Amino acid sequence: MTRGSASRVAKAEEIALAIDIGGTTIKAAALDRSGGVYGEVTVPTHDRLRGPLDGVRLVLRELQRQLAEAGRDAHRVGIASPGLVDTPAGTVAYAANLGWRDLALTDVIAAEFDLPATLLHDARAGAVAERAVLLGAGETADSLVFVPIGTGVSAAILDGGRFVAGGSGGAGEFGHIVVVPGGEPCPCGLAGCVEIYASAASILRRYRERGGNAEGTEQIVARLATDTRAAEVWTDAIDALARGLAAVSALLDPAMIVIGGGLGQAGDALLDPLRARARTLLPWKPFPPLRASVTGARAGLVGAGVAAWRDDAPDATFVRTAVTNLARSAAARGRQAS
Ligand SMILES: [Zn+2]
Repeated sequence: MTRGSASRVAKAEEIALAIDIGGTTIKAAALDRSGGVYGEVTVPTHDRLRGPLDGVRLVLRELQRQLAEAGRDAHRVGIASPGLVDTPAGTVAYAANLGWRDLALTDVIAAEFDLPATLLHDARAGAVAERAVLLGAGETADSLVFVPIGTGVSAAILDGGRFVAGGSGGAGEFGHIVVVPGGEPCPCGLAGCVEIYASAASILRRYRERGGNAEGTEQIVARLATDTRAAEVWTDAIDALARGLAAVSALLDPAMIVIGGGLGQAGDALLDPLRARARTLLPWKPFPPLRASVTGARAGLVGAGVAAWRDDAPDATFVRTAVTNLARSAAARGRQAS
């Protein structure tokens, strides 16, 4: 596979390899510009025998193998990574959970796979996908805060149509705002952070610590009316998020707040009490509209696909179609497994 062969393909026929590096898994998919899915693979981020960078190499090779079977080539790569990300340089300056420091990720991919790569911060990648959908629906989306909630909690801040990256590229560490002084210890070294109460992983952990037994947060949400342990950890999560979002709203005055990640899919069970609690914490100011994301747990992956096409960004149709196709193939895999 060479750039020579890639250049002969019309852009409409190109395939992007999208990679979302999460705290638990690395998700990857081969997507065309219409949101068609040509291959998919998910591997654990951390493996006994290899590090996360080898995990990225592994998913790229596997997608190339799946594409080759279909008689197709990959043409570009988009990556969503946590940590301090420098998009123009294509480097991850620091990612604690991945053990990365000053990693020139796009250079590594260009050198080893001969593919142009674009790197985005994972929350910003998710916000890119979410924003494309909003713009496609004719809504203004120049001022919003996108909060993906999964293994961790972070935020992408969009103001005046531009992302706020901060002085060191580290803006958006919403999960480590302290909302319960003297609260539960957080791996970041502080105590009482938003994330230690409100990430999906934390909600599940706190439910189990109280003797509850659940595979995922959906089960906890389903038991809110009948299980006091479920209600307790859910209320704590809502309260931590509300305190954090009230601070964000007071400081940034976003026109909209969008909750993403798997937890955003809880819908009204999350949004109604969260809205009510946040309003009591910020009584002197209208709280901005609060919504669940359209892209859900696949925001980062689809946003990485959008990033792969760089400034020539695909539209809402790409995002919606890719999300639908990825959900459909996940459901098909679930049926096969059961
Ligand atoms: Zn923390």
